[in-house]
Amino acid sequence: MSNHTTAASDTDRLNIAVLGCSGSIGTQTLDVARHHSSQVQILALSVHHNTKKLVEAAREFSCSYVAVTDPAHSDDSVLQELPQETKLLVGPEALVTLATLPEVDCVVSAVVGFAGIESNYAAAKAGKRLAYANKESIVVGGDLIMPLLHPGQLIPVDSEHSAIFQCLQGEQKASLYRIWLTCSGGPFFGKVKQELEHVTVQDALAHPTWSMGSKITIDSATLMNKGLEVIEACHLFDVPEDKITVLIQRQSRIHSMVEFRDGSIKAQLGASDMRACIRYALSYPKRWDSPEAERIDWGSEPPITFNEPDMETFGCLKLARQASRTGRTMPCAMNAANEVANAAFRRGDCGFLDIERTCAAVMEHHTIRPVESVHQLEEVDAESRAQAREYLAGRL
Ligand code: NDP
Ligand code: MG
Repeated sequence: MSNHTTAASDTDRLNIAVLGCSGSIGTQTLDVARHHSSQVQILALSVHHNTKKLVEAAREFSCSYVAVTDPAHSDDSVLQELPQETKLLVGPEALVTLATLPEVDCVVSAVVGFAGIESNYAAAKAGKRLAYANKESIVVGGDLIMPLLHPGQLIPVDSEHSAIFQCLQGEQKASLYRIWLTCSGGPFFGKVKQELEHVTVQDALAHPTWSMGSKITIDSATLMNKGLEVIEACHLFDVPEDKITVLIQRQSRIHSMVEFRDGSIKAQLGASDMRACIRYALSYPKRWDSPEAERIDWGSEPPITFNEPDMETFGCLKLARQASRTGRTMPCAMNAANEVANAAFRRGDCGFLDIERTCAAVMEHHTIRPVESVHQLEEVDAESRAQAREYLAGRL
């Protein structure tokens, strides 16, 4: 990616569609829009179930379009309180409609999981600017999505990738030597595998530095999140897996670093606040005055520390690196297994270490194919989900 831009000019507001507006990233995007109403206009919003939040946001931002992707919630009585001029769409396919509306300049991709892939693919194809949080769809479909993008079209929202993207501004790709992908280590940093066998959902949801949606918080506890981020970085920055070193940075102050061939290193630092990454993805290549942004008094900060990740205890990171090296449909199979096992753990239907075991089992059974289409990935996803459920039921 380079420095080219599709950002709004000084006079135009950026018209955005926020897919997944009720989640952690979605809600924080609305907050950024609230503080930057002269730069951003929210045109379209989607939720899966949370129609109450949808109606509140549609009223506040006078949105033209809203979507409820779970048809079971299409008749929720609260939807009658939508502004009269707001058009309501229903069903999963509505995400593609919102992502490709001619009036939309930028799609904030804040849906969780594989469910985001079709709309991201469609938005990329339609030339929309992408403020990209939905890492799973890049992990699974990077081979399809990345070739569609022109430089500066996709701005990462994931904090590490936003950091790397910022460090790469003004640099040539040939100068890149290594990416230092930082990681908080999650709530179980320092534990050995045996100690993880009986941890509870509550233990795993207690993230030390970031407040996020429940799926990614569990991924951060298993370090699958960091594994997904390795694959994401390979696609976004077109680097092989062995050029990415994961580094534990417990305080989450350094959001990632890029090392160049001359030995020089650039890092991006800041508060643990996703609104900074969202703001940058919307303002790029400019930076907006942001009196609301948290400022850090570095003189009174505790020391910044570094550790290496424990790949044996946190086997999901090892599996993801393996999936990254294997490539093709393997990341899709692994991601599907992880989504199933992560949800099962959150429901109390399996143990913490079963997440890693499920991913390993599904990867072992997977027949690797080159990535050909979104439809093919949907088939691989469905097949791998079925295998994961079989594994968890003791039948694989
Ligand atoms: P949340 O679970 O908080 O929110 C998910 C959003 O997606 C909600 O609006 C939800 O709607 C919607 N959604 C859920 N399932 C579906 C579906 N099947 N189809 C369409 N929409 C759906 O997730 P986060 O905001 O934490 O994460 C969103 C993405 O951003 C993830 O890919 C995550 O990895 C990434 N990310 C998140 C970070 C964070 O700080 N939270 C940091 C970096 C990356 P409803 O509420 O109605 O269910
Ligand atoms: Mg991240």
